[in-house]
Amino acid sequence: MEPCDDAVVTAYDELLEVQALDLSLQQLAHRRANLPEQAALDANSARRTGVESARSEVDAAHRELVRRQHLLEDEINQVRGRAETHEATLYSGSVNNPRELQALQDDIEALRRRQRALEDDDLEIMEELEPVVAALAEFDAQLTVLADEASQLQAALGSVTADIDAETARIGQERSDLAAGIDADVLADYEQLRVQCGGVGIARLEGGHCGGCHLALSAVEVDRIRKLPGDARVVCEECGRLLVR
Ligand SMILES: [Zn+2]
Repeated sequence: MEPCDDAVVTAYDELLEVQALDLSLQQLAHRRANLPEQAALDANSARRTGVESARSEVDAAHRELVRRQHLLEDEINQVRGRAETHEATLYSGSVNNPRELQALQDDIEALRRRQRALEDDDLEIMEELEPVVAALAEFDAQLTVLADEASQLQAALGSVTADIDAETARIGQERSDLAAGIDADVLADYEQLRVQCGGVGIARLEGGHCGGCHLALSAVEVDRIRKLPGDARVVCEECGRLLVR
């Protein structure tokens, strides 16, 4: 064998190493795209969205009750104020006409009745508010737990992603150093075959079998390959992958 033949054979051997690194890079990319931490974070996010949506409905009911309560309390204050003004007039001694006094007392009684009715309504609203406020507190507690879980998952995700990225960079560097020493046409040939053949563009020929498709080559073909010069481009007759002898 001539020295240049050895060099080419080495190039195909090196291509096998490049391919091993490419497969590692592919596995790392797959792992990074399918991290359980990311899936857990997505599930956490979906649960938070669900709780937030349920909470916002209850929150709207809460706001409406509080709005009605404020209106009622304003009205109670007005009615009470008017009753107190009437009472002040009644007890001031400024009204002496019995008919006017009676009218004043009737007004005061009517206002106090109205005040009691409004206060009953107010109590009902307070009772309605109780479970609503409790539900909001429960939602807030759930959201706090989910937010804590999310930040833990985020930290774990950041850590595992950084590890994968570092490993990817290390292998990527190793791959490009190795590829730099391989003939550009040979490398381009491999890269095209790798795309066409599902990630495996080159395989070892062992015992007359292609390491890529695992089919046996014909004895005639194996014999023909054996007689080829060392730098010859050899492909599997079954799957078309490059073969390393
Ligand atoms: Zn094959």
